[in-house]
Amino acid sequence: MIKVERRPVSDPGIDENAKKLTPEQIEGVIRHVLEKESAGRLRTFVETCIHCGLCSDACHYYLAYKRDPSYSPVAKVRLTLWDMIRRKYRVDAESIKMYARISYAECNICKRCSMYCPFGIDIAYLMTVVRRICGLLGVVPQYLQDQGNSHMYTYSQSWVPQDDWVDTALWLEDELRMDIRNGRIPFDKEGAEVMYSPHSLEAKFKTNLLTNIAKIMNVAGVDWTMPSFDGWDSTNQAMHVGDYETMGMVERMHFEAAMRLKVKKIITSE
Ligand code: SF4
Ligand code: SF4
Repeated sequence: MIKVERRPVSDPGIDENAKKLTPEQIEGVIRHVLEKESAGRLRTFVETCIHCGLCSDACHYYLAYKRDPSYSPVAKVRLTLWDMIRRKYRVDAESIKMYARISYAECNICKRCSMYCPFGIDIAYLMTVVRRICGLLGVVPQYLQDQGNSHMYTYSQSWVPQDDWVDTALWLEDELRMDIRNGRIPFDKEGAEVMYSPHSLEAKFKTNLLTNIAKIMNVAGVDWTMPSFDGWDSTNQAMHVGDYETMGMVERMHFEAAMRLKVKKIITSE
């Protein structure tokens, strides 16, 4: 068995919510996700892995923690999905907390390890399955869950509703004109070459980034626009939570915004 030693880090989104779980709820959610949502692909990956460890050196967590084997990609799967399967889904709340810690805080779903695996096993996907289970159980880091909730209620990551978004962009356009005479932040221009899709923070804490983009677009003479309506924010934290329902809604709104404006390209923020 892999030895796991971790400094305890408290997070109310994980610790408090895990206290509310019942054994039936845990078993039901794991069964649903593993047997109904991800059965074929999951089984193929889990049964193909030969535990060779070739993927370990691809993982920055493994390297950052001095090659501690408990941070290797295959250990993350072994300590989460394999643990659930081995125990026939009858795991306790403490185990769910461990799965949440590993899948949210010890893997950032970068997929580098899958490039190193001779079989192409997608450990990032397997970690998203673990996040999905934790997400459905409500055992999610509080800050991340808050951003997921923001997508659900305001369709943006940072609690910026549509009217605030428009107000902010208009104010930034005024600022822009201090540097560029008649500079524009053009909303809803149908048929534009480019729809710029900002990060939510560009409408809140990092507004200078949106002004910078506007300067580049204006000076370069790009035919660009942004939606004044919902779907303007390019981020999707619901994906990281494991909330596929909100994730799908956010992506659909983004796609539909581009379709409605009939743009040729979307440029997203970082
Ligand atoms: S997907 Fe996760 S396990 Fe794989 S390299 Fe990235 S962080 Fe490491
Ligand atoms: S995921 Fe691939 S490279 Fe990593 S241990 Fe399993 S078989 Fe080996």
